[in-house]
Amino acid sequence: MARTRMQQLRTLERDVRTCDRCVVAGHLPEAHPVIWNPVAGRNMVIGQAPAQGAHLAERPWSGPSGALMRAWFATAGFDPERFHDDWYFTSITKCFPGKAASGTGDRSPSAAERALCRPYLEVELALIRPALIVTLGRLAADAIIPGARSRTLRELVETVWQVDVGYGDVPVVALPHPSGVGRWLNDPDNRARVDRAMERLALAWGNTPMLGGGAP
Ligand code: SF4
Repeated sequence: MARTRMQQLRTLERDVRTCDRCVVAGHLPEAHPVIWNPVAGRNMVIGQAPAQGAHLAERPWSGPSGALMRAWFATAGFDPERFHDDWYFTSITKCFPGKAASGTGDRSPSAAERALCRPYLEVELALIRPALIVTLGRLAADAIIPGARSRTLRELVETVWQVDVGYGDVPVVALPHPSGVGRWLNDPDNRARVDRAMERLALAWGNTPMLGGGAP
């Protein structure tokens, strides 16, 4: 008998929780994957990698970055009470990569780590089949939006991208990473860009029949 989508997501969750590819390859001292519980929602938030707060709480977006992200979504009218039911949270790599050598912020996962973890994201995309995707940060945008590497973050944030992630075009809204480690969000013009991006996200939600076609 064919397994349900939820059963397949549970299997993926178990596979990720027992993964040690980056340890075996020498990229991480220990693997401590953080993965979101499967949800019925058809929207996906893709971040870079779990932050230290998520690592400690074993729950994605548990720290200050998550608080700012939720504030952004609230300004666009998304109900905080439904937030964790409506959105599936994942990241380019699933393990906390450790602190950056500079001591400021977290280390960005290397290209090798991203490549080792990419198959899990592909399975998530195939199972969730998101109707709407939000990327958070440069690495997530680069991983999802074709040609993103040749564009500035401003350009990425100012457009709703239509990306074929395997089953037809899906609207993708690119946001900066909410960690605030970079200086990008210090610029009032860039914060205004985020506000406009959230307005476009709310519009994309309302225009997506699969999501109900209603206001958030
Ligand atoms: S980052 Fe991904 S591939 Fe690497 S150990 Fe963690 S779950 Fe496995």
